[in-house]
Order: sequence, then C-alpha cells, then structure tokens
Amino acid sequence: MRVSGSPSARFRPRDLVDVVVVGSGAAGGIVAKELATAGLTVVVLEQGPRLERQQFEHDEFKYFFRNGIVNDPERQPQTFAPTPDQQAKRGAGRLMYARLVGGGSVHFTANYWRFHEIDFVEASRHGSISGTGFADWPITYADLEPYYTKAEWELGVSGVPGPFDAPRSRAYPLPPMPVKASGVLFEEASRRLGLHPQPVPLAILSEPFGGRMACHHCGFCLGFGCEFGAKSATLYTVIPVAEATGRCEIRPQSYVRRIEIDERTGRATGVIYFDEQKIEQRQRTRSVVVCANGAETPRLLLMSRSNRFPDGLANSSGLVGKYLMFNGYCTAGGTFERLLNEWKSVTASRMIHDFYDADPARGFYGGGGIDARFAGYPMGFALGGVIGTLGPDMPTWGADYKRLLRESYSRTMYAACHTTSLPLAANAVSLDPTLKDDWGQPALRFTYQDHPDDLATMRFLQAKALAILEAAGARRAWADPVNPSTFAVHLLGTCRMGDDPRTSVVDRYNRTHDVRNLFLCDGSSFVTSGRGQPTCTIQALAYRAGEHIAQFARRGEI
Ligand SMILES: Cc1cc2nc3c(=O)[nH]c(=O)nc-3n(C[C@H](O)[C@H](O)[C@H](O)COP(=O)(O)OP(=O)(O)OC[C@H]3O[C@@H](n4cnc5c(N)ncnc54)[C@H](O)[C@@H]3O)c2cc1C
Ligand code: SF4
Repeated sequence: MRVSGSPSARFRPRDLVDVVVVGSGAAGGIVAKELATAGLTVVVLEQGPRLERQQFEHDEFKYFFRNGIVNDPERQPQTFAPTPDQQAKRGAGRLMYARLVGGGSVHFTANYWRFHEIDFVEASRHGSISGTGFADWPITYADLEPYYTKAEWELGVSGVPGPFDAPRSRAYPLPPMPVKASGVLFEEASRRLGLHPQPVPLAILSEPFGGRMACHHCGFCLGFGCEFGAKSATLYTVIPVAEATGRCEIRPQSYVRRIEIDERTGRATGVIYFDEQKIEQRQRTRSVVVCANGAETPRLLLMSRSNRFPDGLANSSGLVGKYLMFNGYCTAGGTFERLLNEWKSVTASRMIHDFYDADPARGFYGGGGIDARFAGYPMGFALGGVIGTLGPDMPTWGADYKRLLRESYSRTMYAACHTTSLPLAANAVSLDPTLKDDWGQPALRFTYQDHPDDLATMRFLQAKALAILEAAGARRAWADPVNPSTFAVHLLGTCRMGDDPRTSVVDRYNRTHDVRNLFLCDGSSFVTSGRGQPTCTIQALAYRAGEHIAQFARRGEI
C-alpha cells in the first residue's frame, strides 16, 4: 500500500486546482488520496508541521505538558463556559487535537471500533429525548459497511470480530494484537461475570503489512507518533499514495482563516491562509473539502461569513457549531499484587460491548464499551492527571508517596469506560467576541454541559468496570470521580449530516446544503456520538465522501 519515491506535485497559489482540502488528519488524508487517485488535482492545507516518523520522540513532558504535537492554547487560545449565558473564560476548558500532517491519526490510541447498526437509527428505536437534537442518521450501517472494510484494509487494522459486532463483508486484514496482562485479567474476570470480552480492534499492525513494520510494543502509543510507522496514521498510509499520483501537494504550516465565496454565484472560489511566515496567501480552487475536525471546521465556517452568508458559511440552518458531542470517558483503577508492566505495548488489548446498547430499563438513555488499559505514563500517573488518579486517600507527598508510586506503577491497570453523549444545541463551538489568536483571528469559544443521562451512563458503566477489577482480584480497586466534561479529544457533531437543510449542515454525501462545491468531512458530520472511538467511522465517511466527490467532479457537478 505504501508508495514512496514518487515526486509529489507542487502548485502555486494562483494555479486553479480541482480541490483544496483543509486539514490533513484522519479524514483529510483519506479524502486527498481518494480525489488524487481519481485524477483530480489536490492541495492539502495543513496548519501544523510535517514530521517524519524518525522525528517522533518518547518525551512525555514535551508531548503532554508542553503541547509537543497538539494545538497550543498559548498560540490558539480557547474560552469555555458550561452554558451560553455564562462568561466564557480562557483556560477553563479545552478541545485538544493533533496539529501536524496526519492530524489525530498520528497520536491517537488507535482503538478502531466500527459503529453498531443501532448507532445510526437510535432515535427511531428509542424515540426523541426532550431538549436534545437526538436524531437518526440519513445513512445506515449497511450504507457505510463497504467503507469500513475499505478503511480497515487500506490503512491496516488488527482484530477479530466480537459477539456484538454488526455484520461485516470481510474479516480484519490482520490478527489481533497480543493480549496484555491487563487484558488477561479483564478477560478472565469478565467471563466469570457472564460478560463477553473480545480483543480490541486497533489501527496498528500486528504483522508487517503493506510494506510497513509491525508494532514494536514501545509503549508510547497514546498521544505519541509511532516511529516504526506501525500505527496506521494517514501520514504513513494514504498520504504517500496521494502524493505518489503526482497530483497532490501537502502544504504544511498553512493555517486557513477563510473560505472565499463568489457573492454572485454562491460558489467557493478560493481559500485564504497564512503561510509559515504568517503571510497571507490565496489558493484558487474549483472546490473545497474542509476536514479540520469537529472544533476547527465550524470555527472556519463562522470566520468565513460574508454578505451572502452573514451568519457564517453554509449556516442557513443556524446549526454550524451546534450539537457538539464528546463521548463520555471515566475510569476505574485497580492495583494488583503481581507485576502487570502495563507500560509495554499498545494501550488496550481487551474490551466488552455488553452494555453498548441503551436499555430503557436503566431509566436513562446511553451505553458504551469498557476496555482494559494501561494506567498512564509515569508523570501523568504520578500527578494523577492524564489518565486517572491513584485512588482516594492515597499519600500525595513524601516517602509514603514515593513508595506508593514505586510499588503501584507497574502493578496498576484501568478499566476505561467510553460512552454516548447526547446532542444538545447549547453545547456549541462559536467565535469568542474579544479574544484573538496569534494570527489575529477570533479565538474558539465553546460551551458544554453533560446531559444528566450522559453522567448517569458514565456512572453505570463505571460500576461495571469496578466490578470487573474486583472480580479480577485487585488488592485495591477504586472509581475515579465522574466530573462534568470540560476537556475533549473526540470532537463531534458540529456540522451535522441530514437530508433536511433546515435541520442539518451537510447532506448524506458530506456536501453542504448551501454551497454546491463545499464539502465538510470529519467528526463534525456526526449526528449521534457513537460510544467512543469515532475515528473508524470518521474515516469510513471520508472514503465514502471522497468517492462521491470524485463522481460529482467527473459529472461536472462541482
Ligand atoms: C490522545 C488522543 C487519543 C485518541 N485516541 C483515539 C482512539 O483510540 N480512537 C479513536 O477513534 N479516536 C481517538 N482519538 C480521537 C481522534 O484523534 C480523532 O477522532 C480524529 O483524529 C478526528 O479526525 P478528523 O479528521 O475529524 O480531525 P483531525 O484528525 O483532528 O484532523 C484535522 C486536521 O486539520 C488541521 N486543521 C485544523 N484547522 C485548520 C485550519 N484552519 N487550517 C489548516 N489546517 C487545519 C489540524 O491541524 C489537523 O491536522 C484520540 C485523540 C487524542 C487526542
Ligand atoms: S506501541 Fe506499537 S504502534 Fe504504538 S507507538 Fe509503539 S510501536 Fe508504534
């Protein structure tokens, strides 16, 4: 699959290209590859740098505490308030994503869950939920299935189907990753409790595949780039294929601030961006596909307001930025007598989907999955900040604290819960009215408050996670506090997909209802949140959108 050695294209901003793709992440890399291999000329504008795999480091301080490869709140600040009527404050919350070529696919944990069939049709199964935008998707699992398969086989995914999985047309291309100590304990305990553990599907190579190396189990997976190229990031998979066509240029350090529209025709004609020297450039284009993620895509549309689109580009529905969803996340921790050495290898190796579906008998809407995973990197573990805490009433200073860390780091694991988030109109991305970023652009403002059912779902799953750790024989097991969400890495729903232009921003092919040659394809298209691990669905949607955009282009429709 990997193609190298071919020259990538170089275009000048004044050249009229077929497509500008904004953002080179999980979705953008795939869209670029699909369009370039279909014969279109493509410029991908990526705000972050391009790093090659030998440049990735195992430096927890730099990557987790100094924003090594993620968006930097100093240069691109955000403001947050729980509700729209409260004053949003800088630093009070954070939407985090990887800011480099490959985007989140470079540093993600690579849990690669397909949606289940129910995810697309929940509103008609469960009925509407008052005060929310809970709705069916305009497409079904069957519509997306061929693209899930394509993603798994083009990118490289290791796994084996689980008992609750939706039907698939083809097996995974690679066998599951080896089970970790946490996976063995989780699997045995879950079975004793009558549950159905399965290997975690991972976008990581368990064996050499497509000219790439298998995982070397370095342990620096969550939040890091893979120097072996074994994580199936778009950086090592589809982007080289796009470049090898000679029709695709990836242009890093190119921060897009506006999509230009011909006021007369209402068509997108160009993209204004800052180059590495912060000098404004304008790339001419026949069409635009925005793949800047669920936070930055709506921000860019709102920054692109014009006389014709005074409320923001493609925002006739008023829904650009609204219905922000995160996926709930909470953990239970367990420390064992024996060494687990969870700092080795991939993050998680076993999971359950027994509680995936919502069940009205629980008294609230929601569901999710639980996986067995490592307890964090050393600094995060010690500070109790990145993944979880050390449990209640534990020493936090002095000799006892040192002893606790020494004894527990290699003996601790987490059972992590990944859950639904309901779409609420008040949970939204907008532009801060006063704060600007380093380029003089309006800072991202977001509001977010968990629906009571989302919190109830997290507590429900967490109780199950704790029971598994206790059944596994943890000498000490605890549930970390379930706090209101103010931080997220799953950025979903802010330009939702639908057939009705009054209630959605993009149609079933990711084309905006308002602008014929403008497409949005990333986490922003989600109608409901799924249960965590959205990237598999984001990438399947990207393959589907790419195929259709190429067809529209062939028919002269864009
Ligand atoms: C630590 C961590 C672990 C994760 N683990 C998992 C996991 O295990 N499973 C899972 O499913 N998901 C995981 N995720 C989430 C996953 O990374 C995202 O769901 C996925 O990357 C989103 O894809 P996207 O295409 O929507 O956006 P991204 O991958 O975020 O791509 C957007 C790209 O656009 C660029 N961009 C944004 N604005 C502009 C602009 N104005 N101009 C130019 N470029 C711009 C960004 O720099 C970025 O490169 C994780 C995320 C984090 C942070
Ligand atoms: S654990 Fe494997 S896939 Fe993850 S970064 Fe290390 S070598 Fe790469």
